[in-house]
Amino acid sequence: MSSGAEKLKNNKSIAILDAAERGGYGIVSVVCYNLEEIIATARAAEAKNSPAMILLFPWALTQFKSHLVNLAADVCASANVPLSLHLDHCLEYDLVKYAASLPFDSIMVDMSHYEKDENLRLTKELTDYCHERGIATEAEPGRIEGGEDGLKDTADLEGVLTTPEQALEFVATGIDFLAPAFGNIHGEYGAKGPRGWLEFDRLEKVRKAVEGKVKIVLHGTNAFDQALFQQCVGHGVSKINVNKQLIDPWKKMMNERHQTGFLPITKLMEDSIDIFQKEVERLMDECGSSGKA
Ligand SMILES: [Zn+2]
Repeated sequence: MSSGAEKLKNNKSIAILDAAERGGYGIVSVVCYNLEEIIATARAAEAKNSPAMILLFPWALTQFKSHLVNLAADVCASANVPLSLHLDHCLEYDLVKYAASLPFDSIMVDMSHYEKDENLRLTKELTDYCHERGIATEAEPGRIEGGEDGLKDTADLEGVLTTPEQALEFVATGIDFLAPAFGNIHGEYGAKGPRGWLEFDRLEKVRKAVEGKVKIVLHGTNAFDQALFQQCVGHGVSKINVNKQLIDPWKKMMNERHQTGFLPITKLMEDSIDIFQKEVERLMDECGSSGKA
């Protein structure tokens, strides 16, 4: 066993996704922007007796340095269910290295804005760097279309779908989690809806190629329903990233509150936690992780 592999033996993100893959359920991986969402995710996980992952964007590092990371790590450590901390879509080499000095369990090394050879070279180098520090990595072969809040808009890059050959090239870099592009989109699916875009035959070919080597991650889950989550899990997906579907009900609530006049900020924060928690619990039911902690 290499020293990197030895250091990953107790990695929490890997353990959570291993169990999910074996058990045939998906891990709700919640992009969190603030304290309220972090607390809500932990409360939902404990209420549902479900494992979960808390995701931060690099935005959290550039805005708050280590502070939100440390807070989230503290929440993960004190939860009575498996809860791990992951950095989503880290596009910058130096920022990956900085993040690897913080208490993340896993980091998405997203070098997909580089040409393929450079992408593979940097992914391998940063994966080795993270593994030496006990941190697992995720990468995205191909290009998942669209942009997400807090990320540079990458929608100008042409979407490229993942092939099994390409997936294996990324597996060879040593990554632990693979996020294939099989028609999934960051952002809105439009009139066709996600079913109009997703290529499950492509996902299945990628799964067959990488099975047992890496965990499969699903990005771009706006407008997904329970049947679609389950279909993805059936094709080997174990990590399910969620983002906007939690923000929309919260924004609606905040708009309504503004219209009804003054409310103490403490009450607004408590109600924010409640509404995020309710949504995360619903997603845990839909992804099948409830009761699996
Ligand atoms: Zn993503």
